[in-house]
Amino acid sequence: MSFLMDTYKRLPVSFVRGNGVYLYDEKGRQYLDLVGGVAVNLLGYSDEDLIKALCEQANKLWHVSNLYQNPWQEDVAKLLVERFWTNAKVFFCNSGAEANEGAIKLVRRFFWEKGEKKYRIITFKKGFHGRTFGAMSATAQEKIHTGFEPLLEGFDYAEFNNINSVKELLNKETAGIMLEVIQGEGGINEADWGFLQEIQELCKKEGILLIVDEVQTGIGRTGKFYAYEHYGIKPDIITLAKGLGGGFPIGCVLAREEVAQAFKPGSHGSTFGGNPLACVCAKVVVEKVSKLLDHVVQVGQYFKERLSIFGKVRGKGLMLGLEREENCQEVVLKALEKGLLINCTAERVIRFVPPLIIQKEHVDEALEILKDIL
Ligand code: PLP
Repeated sequence: MSFLMDTYKRLPVSFVRGNGVYLYDEKGRQYLDLVGGVAVNLLGYSDEDLIKALCEQANKLWHVSNLYQNPWQEDVAKLLVERFWTNAKVFFCNSGAEANEGAIKLVRRFFWEKGEKKYRIITFKKGFHGRTFGAMSATAQEKIHTGFEPLLEGFDYAEFNNINSVKELLNKETAGIMLEVIQGEGGINEADWGFLQEIQELCKKEGILLIVDEVQTGIGRTGKFYAYEHYGIKPDIITLAKGLGGGFPIGCVLAREEVAQAFKPGSHGSTFGGNPLACVCAKVVVEKVSKLLDHVVQVGQYFKERLSIFGKVRGKGLMLGLEREENCQEVVLKALEKGLLINCTAERVIRFVPPLIIQKEHVDEALEILKDIL
């Protein structure tokens, strides 16, 4: 009997500690973790610098609200903006869905400030943006909407990698196009390079905003600091969360300056957003991940090549999906029995989003287990 709402199909295991890329259950059994808290624990478990930063801050000050100056947010924002393609400003929140809510509001507010009646956003089938009302409505997946209608008005759903389907939806009320450059929850679907060039062109031509949801792909996951960099595009807004705090909840909206100025005092907010504990963690993560990008590319390439003996592999860096014929939930259970944590997404795709500190030997260890199962 559980006191928890039945929102997750939880696996029959509970962990008590973690170290590096391994988790340990109550009986001390070791598991190699290729899920990483669903693309969250970028530095793995028990990273010494993260623990030190968090404990030092915990001994000084936990929370002050956003009524006062927040130097911890300034530190992280500076690092994030330095990595962006142009001058930008950051709004901190607590999760991916909340970051996308902020982005959607910013888009609407930007055009409202200009006196233009543009508020609709084009998003993509199989995309995923979160579970709150705006983010859920932006998510073009029927199973996510079931039972929650009416949705928030103002979203139009196009086919991923099909520019004509985007053009057909464009109208004078369109304010922006929002996408993941690699759809995570939708099955590790990569955008075509040419498709994103056309999206960029279209946004420029129509004077509308390009919003890239980097909640899963951002902060080094794909081998670039931001995944949009692979495609040479220049988004107006990006959203981050998941890996940003390395396991401590934090998210943000980052927008180029002209767009960011649409938010004025009082137009948006979040009580906990970017509190000192979250920000000291994010600072460590951003600094350490910035030095790990080559490693992610190398280990990712090694992993991808070796995985390909089992089927078609998609993705970049350490965000990989292995396409299977069978429903892969069975595979997840068999792997668990053998001490390997993997995740199934879009029913037939095994998703690998391990901590970015994973080494080639860990990849070999995982492949030995997968060979037994697949
Ligand atoms: N956007 C993307 C691309 C995601 O993958 C997710 C979560 O999986 C979200 C948004 C929602 O993030 P959160 O669960 O932190 O609200």
